[in-house]
Amino acid sequence: MFRTCSLFLPAVVTLLVLCVGVYSAPVEQKYDTLVAPSLFEGDIAGIAPRGGFKSSDELSAAISRNGIRSGKWPGGRMYYRISDNFNSTERQVIVGAIAEINGNVSHFSLIRRTNEIHYVDILRGAPQTGCYSYIGTVGGRQVLNLEAPVAPRDPHCIRHGIVVHELMHAVGFYHEQSRTERDNFVEVNFPNIAQSKWHNFQSYETHQVTNFSQPYDYDSLMHYGRFDFANDRTVWTIRAKGDVQGKIKIGQRYGLSPIDILKMNAMYTGLEKKLN
Ligand SMILES: [Zn+2]
Repeated sequence: MFRTCSLFLPAVVTLLVLCVGVYSAPVEQKYDTLVAPSLFEGDIAGIAPRGGFKSSDELSAAISRNGIRSGKWPGGRMYYRISDNFNSTERQVIVGAIAEINGNVSHFSLIRRTNEIHYVDILRGAPQTGCYSYIGTVGGRQVLNLEAPVAPRDPHCIRHGIVVHELMHAVGFYHEQSRTERDNFVEVNFPNIAQSKWHNFQSYETHQVTNFSQPYDYDSLMHYGRFDFANDRTVWTIRAKGDVQGKIKIGQRYGLSPIDILKMNAMYTGLEKKLN
């Protein structure tokens, strides 16, 4: 009897260990709660009022108020907090995105917040909350929302390129195709875009944004892709000017382009005054 048990018991333990190894209970998803703001250009918060702009003047006023010329982080120091609701893998992605910016700029740093008043709060958003950020510093706590994945194999917003893209908004950058002279470089296929989304393809004037005298950058992390906002996903919405066959690749979500880095350095070294 005892001998049987002593043989049987290790087998049960082994079986249990194997079972636990094979079956892991679903991990509980934790989200940060937030009031979703109205979004401008798909992922920029704090500019567009609900229902859109009534006039182009209203749009201009909003951009001037929150724009690249007035929203720099004092001393080139942007403080951030990462929500505890991210799991360790997701946190690693965010830390990697922060490292990409910190490793490429010399007069600007993303610094973990201790008790600073003005900071970016990086939140793990529930499904359907989107990926978005404010442009530059807007004062106090400002949300940078990363919609969390529903399926484990779809990281959704929590991908390196997307996180760097949203952080670039927080640093103070609009989308590349918003540049003043963009019509010389890209064309927009408005018939394939819902009219309610046309504002996403607005270009800005020189008093609103500065290009730091850098050339137009099809490869920018901040450029839209060829089919973004399409009604018919098989038809382009934005393409390099005259590029009927789609040979010139526009937009990417892998990491900072060389020109993205040059512009970020220029923004925080005061070089734009000399370059303009
Ligand atoms: Zn964006």
